[in-house]
Amino acid sequence: MRVKVIGAGLAGSEAALQLAKNGIYVDLYEMRPKKQTPAHKTGYFAEFVCSNSLGSYDVTNASGLLKHEMEILNSELLPVVFDCQVPAGGALAIDRELFCKNVTNKILNNPFINVINEEVEEIDPSTPSIIASGPLTSDILAQNIKDFIGEDYLYFFDAIAPIVEKDSVNFDKAFYLNRYNKGSADYINCPMNKEEYLNFYNILINSPKIELKTFEKNAKFFESCLPIEVIASRGEDTLRFGPLKPIGLVDERTGTENYAVVQLRQDNKAAELYNIVGFQTNLKWGSQKELIHSIPGLENANIVRYGVMHRNTFINSPKALLPTLQSRKNPNIFFAGQITGTEGYSESIASGLLAGINISRYVQNKPLFELPQETMLGALTHYITFPQNTSFQPINSNWGILSPLNADRKILKNKKLKNELLGKRAIETLKSYLNTI
Ligand SMILES: Cc1cc2nc3c(=O)[nH]c(=O)nc-3n(C[C@H](O)[C@H](O)[C@H](O)COP(=O)(O)OP(=O)(O)OC[C@H]3O[C@@H](n4cnc5c(N)ncnc54)[C@H](O)[C@@H]3O)c2cc1C
Repeated sequence: MRVKVIGAGLAGSEAALQLAKNGIYVDLYEMRPKKQTPAHKTGYFAEFVCSNSLGSYDVTNASGLLKHEMEILNSELLPVVFDCQVPAGGALAIDRELFCKNVTNKILNNPFINVINEEVEEIDPSTPSIIASGPLTSDILAQNIKDFIGEDYLYFFDAIAPIVEKDSVNFDKAFYLNRYNKGSADYINCPMNKEEYLNFYNILINSPKIELKTFEKNAKFFESCLPIEVIASRGEDTLRFGPLKPIGLVDERTGTENYAVVQLRQDNKAAELYNIVGFQTNLKWGSQKELIHSIPGLENANIVRYGVMHRNTFINSPKALLPTLQSRKNPNIFFAGQITGTEGYSESIASGLLAGINISRYVQNKPLFELPQETMLGALTHYITFPQNTSFQPINSNWGILSPLNADRKILKNKKLKNELLGKRAIETLKSYLNTI
């Protein structure tokens, strides 16, 4: 039995090495360097396209917990990360060139992996395969994936809105209410008076934006989904007649209609994460932080995802995939990496790890892993494959997606303690899950 892996990026490299470890022969397809993506620079596998940091390794940090779980699941790339580590404070950062060279050598020297340097154009439904072609999947394959999954392929140049943790919202200022008091009070509203709005507006129009790559400069936006800085550039009041309109949002505590209101919409089932409505942006992250913290009620908001803009190809995973990362349509086909909507380097490696383990088990007729939602990787894969998720957007590891902790209010209010307990529970749950399966 041979398995095909399409794309030798972070997810595909990890997946191929997992298969090889299980004694399964792999045909690993990579189109670079013959055909480059607009962001990759080398012909090496597992290239880091932008920053060289994988975030925290601290188990009380959501991204750190993910790495600890990856270690328990015997990730093949994580030891290479540690070998190539460079000092970076609390972050796990690497010498990117050394890292991708080492991964490339590890793959080329593996007798179970046959590397084929060509662009894959079609999915072969009869061969067990992992599609790990990333957010910059070549156009022809992207079209064929779209045909294969039969769902809208979420493929665009996007600017996405930041997400904050509800626990960090200041409810002395913010209040729950739906516009015109319709239905239950689902939205969190952050009211602004004229002075606060003008302060916010000035920060916004004077903030630096992230420099676009050449390939992104022709980015097309939907007029209904413009970045806030683009709307603001059209005039001082445009936001107040757009995403920040105050009409129908009277704060019952004061009885006043405000000058502008920023709304937050629930983003996950556990109601711990809220996205800022209509707030898609391409501002630099430091400026985003300053801007968000200038909003009354969000002075200390913990931002779990910043707004970003780049070409982002990802499938409608809630419709297309099972929590095993297997296609709902054809059990031979698995997906892994950023194309599934798990955002970030660590997350891409982690999903390649899970897909690699599961396809190995699939071809060996063993039950597949469906990781518990108490674990970060289990929660991530559940989040991206939850069928009722109708406004799906890529996400990275964060505490809000884990199933809630059963503890008293005092503990839950102590964020540090709560995260420690969540991390401990995740590790214990993962270990006992692996002992039972
Ligand atoms: C511009 C940009 C910047 C990013 N910056 C960061 C960052 O700073 N930090 C962070 O955590 N995340 C970042 N990400 C998100 C994400 O973590 C990375 O994109 C990550 O590399 C995704 O891993 P992957 O394995 O899914 O895809 P990739 O690492 O992109 O691997 C996919 C591979 O598939 C190959 N391929 C594509 N199509 C075909 C085909 N038809 N046939 C054969 N091979 C094919 C590609 O050449 C590539 O090698 C960024 C993404 C982009 C697009």
